[in-house]
This record gives sequence, structure tokens and C-alpha cells, in this order.
Amino acid sequence: VSERVPPERFGLRPVAARHVRELESLLGPAAVISEPDRLEAFAGDETEKLRFLPDVAVLPASVEEVAAVLRLAARELLPVVPRAAGTGLSGGALPVCGGIVLAVDRLDRVRAIDERDLVAEAEAGVVLADLQQAVEARGLFYPPDPASRETCRIGGNLAEDSAGPRSCKYGSTRRWVLGVEAVLADGSRLVAGGRSRKDATGYNLTQLLVGSEGTLAVIVAATLRLIAKPKATLTAVLPFPTLAAAAGAVERLFVEGLDPAACELAERAALDAVARLEPLPPALAASAALLVVELDGDDGEELLARAERLDALARSLGGGEALVADDAAGQRRLWQVRRRIGEAVKSLSVYKEADTVVPRSRLVELIEAARAAAARQGLTALLYGHAGDGNLHVNLLQGELADSEWERRRDAAEEELFRAVVALGGRITGEHGIGWTQRHLLPMALSEREIALQREIKRAFDPKGILNPGKIFPG
Ligand SMILES: Cc1cc2nc3c(=O)[nH]c(=O)nc-3n(C[C@H](O)[C@H](O)[C@H](O)COP(=O)(O)OP(=O)(O)OC[C@H]3O[C@@H](n4cnc5c(N)ncnc54)[C@H](O)[C@@H]3O)c2cc1C
Repeated sequence: VSERVPPERFGLRPVAARHVRELESLLGPAAVISEPDRLEAFAGDETEKLRFLPDVAVLPASVEEVAAVLRLAARELLPVVPRAAGTGLSGGALPVCGGIVLAVDRLDRVRAIDERDLVAEAEAGVVLADLQQAVEARGLFYPPDPASRETCRIGGNLAEDSAGPRSCKYGSTRRWVLGVEAVLADGSRLVAGGRSRKDATGYNLTQLLVGSEGTLAVIVAATLRLIAKPKATLTAVLPFPTLAAAAGAVERLFVEGLDPAACELAERAALDAVARLEPLPPALAASAALLVVELDGDDGEELLARAERLDALARSLGGGEALVADDAAGQRRLWQVRRRIGEAVKSLSVYKEADTVVPRSRLVELIEAARAAAARQGLTALLYGHAGDGNLHVNLLQGELADSEWERRRDAAEEELFRAVVALGGRITGEHGIGWTQRHLLPMALSEREIALQREIKRAFDPKGILNPGKIFPG
């Protein structure tokens, strides 16, 4: 467990025994956790090696209970850290100065799936995969697909504006949010947006809360747009002789109108890591990199015709023969190679994942910059990710380095890499958010004026600074 930042540094106070008692009287003792061994479950997320013990964790079961917790926290100047499933990768849910972790697990109702308006209304604690299953059972579709979808929750998805392979066609979570219900830092309830498809009514507070990382309000529910589920999908794996050839092909798929629903890239070292866990299809043995491309639509014949155009295009760019599957089991097998990379990298070494994103046309330069930045520090960089969005996860590996040496080299490589990313017109995070671990990099990506304006927005929503202190902003 890491040393906490004193809450006084944020103008806040530690939680006292009387606060715990008051929380118990508001929510009932079963919904308030204050024993240190049970609090450990709320100390970390999936960000490597970082854990901070909160003073107390609460599990409200209604909007009114969320509001009651926030009213108490605002009155007593206590830090409140909203938490969904704790799968975040930028330390957003870490209680860095202790305080109250407000976990939304029990706000887990799908309130409505409306087949006329094509919307779902889901509470913040609904697990994404559960919502998708419920929606798909009615022939409908909610596309956002972070790889963590079996565990992550709607509140966390909105707060991080999560994305996934399908976002290259369907966009990130943001595009699917029509409305939010939230509790503000003073305990008042805000309902923004709703079921209307268009809304030009003043500032768009719904979209401001998406991606706000728990710093502006506690999201309690969302109204989400649905579409009809595409009737057919087809998956193709395209092998390439070099990483640059694979990355260079990405923009062409879009320019040629192949309209991929997903376009993922993996380099050889990532495939080798997967091969340690399970055998790869023999056809992939010699390729230096590959693209996993998914096509979707309503007409299987049309998908096959598009797959032929895809194969021809890849070959014209130096690629080998495509592996194609249009049945469910075959597609699962092809996707498996890509899906297991995260786990495979984890099994290799301690690592740091830089969530880089650049315009698609600059992907090859991004790869060169990542290689150069890692090499200058004598580190191995392993690249894969959502190439269709220009979003690559650059994984720097610790290997055999001692911790202090690793940290020095990692930070230097990351800084050089992100400077290059910004110079290429990119951003310092595509989908994982700024949170705790990226905040020192914010001035690289945003101007002083922009940061000042964002701080003013934070103050307007949360004048006492009780919500998720220490996150997003540097210093
Ligand atoms: C194996 C794995 C694969 C992943 N793959 C992807 C991927 O493909 N794409 C992607 O984008 N991300 C991915 N992630 C990252 C992570 O899953 C997403 O960021 C996810 O949306 C976080 O959801 P969560 O429920 O775990 O939120 P948490 O980690 O609990 O919280 C994340 C942030 O949201 C805030 N928050 C949570 N709930 C609320 C609320 N109700 N109101 C306000 N703020 C709130 C927290 O304070 C925190 O800042 C992956 C993570 C793992 C471990």
C-alpha cells in the first residue's frame, strides 16, 4: 500500500469515527465498510502496483443515498472517490488521500430497454456485458466494447469515455450517451439530456460529464442509444511482412470504403507472447505483424465480397493470404490471438502501457517514435492496439531491471514518446484517461489556457474540491 497524500493538501479533512457512524445511520451498517482488511478491496484498480487505503467505503443503493453521502462529505470537507468495477488503467479510482470510496455496485438496475425509442436506461453499477446481453436478446445492439466488458460497469465507462475495437466504426462510449442522471458535489440531483436524439439546448452537460473521471459529479444512471444488431459479421486476419506495412495498410482500408467494424494491430513480439499461452494458427508463424479486421452488416454475401476486396488490398500492400471466418466459432478463434495479448504481456514482465493515439495517417511514424524512445533507454517496447482509431498501446517492459532503474528509464521513454505523439497531432491518452498516473503529462497536451478553463469548470461543479481529489490536474 502506498503512502497517502494528506487530504489537507487538497483543503480537505480525514474521515473521523463520527463520520463513519453518521454514514452507517444514513445507509445502514451493512453498506458501510471500515475494517482495514475489507477496505483493501477498494484500495486499487488495474493500474500496476498502486494501492491507497480509503478511510471508509460505502455502497449506496439509491440516488437518495448517494446524495446523502455527498451532502455529508460537502459539509465536513471529506474526499469522495467514485468507484465502479475498479478496472481503470490510469488510477482514476484510487483513493490517493484516503476519504470515502463511493462504490456504485448496488446501483445495478437496467431500468428500461425501449424498442420504440431505441434506448436503454441503465444505472451506473450495471456490468457492461450484462447490459449488452439484455439488449442483444431483443435483437438490439450497444456497440462500445472495452476488453474489460465482462467486469467494467456503465458508470466507469461513461466516466472514462471508454472505447474498444469497435469504436473505429461506432465511436467511443460518448457517442452512445443521450442523457445522464448524476448527483453533484453538494448532494443535488442533476438530470441532463434524455431520450431526444437532438439537443441544442444550451451547453451540453451530458457530454461534459462523459470523460470527467469522477471529478465533476457521481453518475447514477445513463440513457444510452441503441441500434438494430447487425445480422452478420466476418473476421479476417491479415498477415504482413513488416510492422510498417501493416500500419500503413490501416488508413487504406478506410479510404477504400471497406468500413471495418474493428481494425486491430499486433506486432510479432505480441504474437510471440500469446504463443507462450496457446499455439497460434500455423499461417501466422512467419508474419512480422497482423491486422485483425471485423466487418459487419446484414448481408453475409456482401460481407464475403468485401472480404475479397480486403484480401486483394492487403496483398497489393505486401500482405500474405488472409485467414477468414464467418461462423461464430471460427471468428472466436481468430479473435483469440488479439484478445489474449493483454494477459500475455502481463505474464512476461512488469510493464507500463502508454495509451497513444495519433491521426491514422501517422501510425507508421508513431511506431518509429515508440521504437526510438524505448531504444534510447535500453527498453523493450511491445506494440498492439486499436489501429483503426490510430490508438496503439505501447507496452514498455521492465524485464530484469531493478525497480529504481526501471522507473527512471520508463519515465524518460514515456516522456519522449508522448512528446513525439503530440508533435504528430496525437493525444496523450486515447481511452484510458488521465486519472492519477498521467496528470503530470497534461501540460504537454493542453495549453495553459485550456487547463485553466478546465480547472474553472471543475470549480463550478465542485467548489470545495471533494470529488476525486488529485486526479486529472497536475500539481
Ligand atoms: C483487461 C482490461 C482491458 C481493458 N480494455 C479496455 C479497452 O479496450 N478500452 C478501454 O477504453 N478501456 C479498457 N480498460 C480500462 C477500463 O476497463 C475502462 O476504463 C473502464 O471503463 C473502467 O470501468 P470501471 O467500471 O472499472 O471503472 P473504475 O475503474 O471503477 O473507475 C474509472 C473512473 O471512473 C470514475 N467513476 C466510476 N464510476 C463512476 C460514477 N458512477 N460516477 C462518476 N465517476 C465514476 C472513477 O472515479 C475513476 O476515475 C481495460 C482494463 C482492463 C483491466
